[in-house]
Amino acid sequence: MASKRQIDVGGVKIGGGAPVAVQSMTKTETADFDATMRQIRAIADAGGDLVRCAVPRERDVDALKRIVVESPIPVIADIHFNHTLAIKAIEAGAHCVRLNPGNIGGPEKVAEVVEVARRHATPMRIGVNSGSLPKHLHALERENSVEALVQAAVEFVELMERLDYEDFKVSIKSTSVPNTIASNRLLSERIDYPLHLGITEAGTKWSGSLKSAVGLGTLLADGVGDTIRISLSTFHAEEEVKVGWEILKALKLRERGPVLIACPTCGRLQFDMDTVVAEIEQRLESYLEPVEVAVLGCAVNGLGEAAQADFGITGAKNEGLIFAHGKPLRKVPQERLVDELFAEIDRSLKVGRTVFDDAEAAAGAEWLERIEEENAGELTPERLAALEAKAANAEAMGGGATALPMAPAGGAERRQVKLGEDVSPTAGRRFTRT
Ligand code: SF4
Repeated sequence: MASKRQIDVGGVKIGGGAPVAVQSMTKTETADFDATMRQIRAIADAGGDLVRCAVPRERDVDALKRIVVESPIPVIADIHFNHTLAIKAIEAGAHCVRLNPGNIGGPEKVAEVVEVARRHATPMRIGVNSGSLPKHLHALERENSVEALVQAAVEFVELMERLDYEDFKVSIKSTSVPNTIASNRLLSERIDYPLHLGITEAGTKWSGSLKSAVGLGTLLADGVGDTIRISLSTFHAEEEVKVGWEILKALKLRERGPVLIACPTCGRLQFDMDTVVAEIEQRLESYLEPVEVAVLGCAVNGLGEAAQADFGITGAKNEGLIFAHGKPLRKVPQERLVDELFAEIDRSLKVGRTVFDDAEAAAGAEWLERIEEENAGELTPERLAALEAKAANAEAMGGGATALPMAPAGGAERRQVKLGEDVSPTAGRRFTRT
């Protein structure tokens, strides 16, 4: 169940149906003002909505006073063990304070922090981590770790409510992806406060991104979660933000910047696609518009599902085709494909529409048709998928299973089935970053 309540962290709404916020954490010593500000700017430039800074020492509080003023995005102070630092961080102007009520020194100290937070209208994130549960839950943890995590979180929520303070979000974090999914699902049934999602110590950029995509993606697709942080073992915090955005974009929960679609390639590949895709991906990073760009390794299947992209390229041995919105734009020499693609993207962004030259588009369409005809008998991955979809549809319509022919008869099988986006679990929760 999605959270009903909403909090405001320095102008960024969390929960209550607001767009899922992406956050990261600086990896610098917070007291190093210049280094911390550099990292905060990198996080903000990558699309971070919020940033968290560790505040383990007095000198970090001193830097925090300047950071909250200079930062382009709201700053959350991350405090452990020391309630005095939490109070000082709030007084320093932190837009939110993260603490674990279980390690801050008991309910009286939590109450002191809450009193100051209330006076400053500062929201808090209260969280539990597997591995630091209160002692009285250790037996339950051995028996049922998910229930123990949820119980700890609910007890902290009840403590806050007894203190008559409701301006907070809650996090349950675990290194285990299944436990993160199960505990957050359960917690979302029991409380209606906004939830912060993350996988603790997820790992390197590769494995951590995958774990986060599986864990957080599953929850977000269920409608659970209001802000996300991807934890990666890299100094470059902006990488965490990029991964967070890719998860939200994949679920179509938010839009930011371009989306790149690329075929997986196979033995029919007719140009150096690895290099081309890498170059396109890198050049797209400077665009903020949500333009969808497709790269196909060959023109054997026509434009296929890439026909839904705003722009795309497909290549043969010496020349390739630039297409837009399912229609050929023009043929270009292989070595000019990428430059010409970006020229077309820039032109269309500038004039607000794609300009087709009839003669060039016709020549491109002819070229595409010729390649499709020449390869009509090939059972490509896309054609196989189209045939499987057709067989599945026939079965669903009650016609029984349809045998898959060895190759599509009568030329290329064109599949223009509109993807069923309305049945997406995230339908109706889409937002555009403004
Ligand atoms: S057949 Fe499909 S997967 Fe293979 S190169 Fe062509 S577009 Fe890519």
